[in-house]
Amino acid sequence: MDRYRKQRARMIETQLMARGITDAGVLKAMENVPRHLFVDEGLIDQAYSDNPLPIGEKQTISQPYIVALMTQGLELNRKDRVLEIGTGSGYQAAILAQLVDRVFSIERIAALASRARKIFDQLNYYNVAIRVGDGSYGWKEEAPFDAIITTAAAPGVPKYLIEQLVVGGRLIVPVGGRDVQTLYKWTRLSENINDIKKEDLGGCRFVSLIGESGWKE
Ligand code: SAM
Repeated sequence: MDRYRKQRARMIETQLMARGITDAGVLKAMENVPRHLFVDEGLIDQAYSDNPLPIGEKQTISQPYIVALMTQGLELNRKDRVLEIGTGSGYQAAILAQLVDRVFSIERIAALASRARKIFDQLNYYNVAIRVGDGSYGWKEEAPFDAIITTAAAPGVPKYLIEQLVVGGRLIVPVGGRDVQTLYKWTRLSENINDIKKEDLGGCRFVSLIGESGWKE
């Protein structure tokens, strides 16, 4: 077992299973994906630590537990089409790519999108499409989606994202102020976009969503 494999095994046991992550697919995905390739070289020794890390451009790769919690909350099936807002390092998209056939991810900072693309190519993850732009609007040409995950904090639920969910689709978004938020899961119950179930998954701290449904820079 290589060094990073051992670190991943420990991360899964002490950070994820110990806090109630039970979805076998999510645990397997997090065991498989080499998180250390998604962090800056200078931080490689901290890649499996229990916290977010800076990835440049004033952005972060999320804490492993939060990645697992959000992914588990999406209740994914292999054939699901999934949209992520906030590609960042690409790590969350890589986890999703283990679990479903098609992943779409939007990042507003071109340099981050292109770095993530390079890592996916290096790892032969060919089922992730990345677009540069404001993910507040979703990805209309590829909609509807079975699941949508926003990895940046919004002041309210972005309405375009609810519109791009199938009936029965799940949307997970951190909502609140610029410093602290609550992680919410919405499930679309019918064609009427106001007919949605809302669940509270707990407190969190994310960087801000910048754009139409977020804040100004
Ligand atoms: N999922 C990422 C990962 O696995 O590394 C972590 C994402 S980081 C916490 C949030 C990301 O959202 C940043 O890269 C930021 O540039 C991006 N972002 C913020 N507002 C956005 C928007 N309107 N559209 C797309 N990306 C956005």
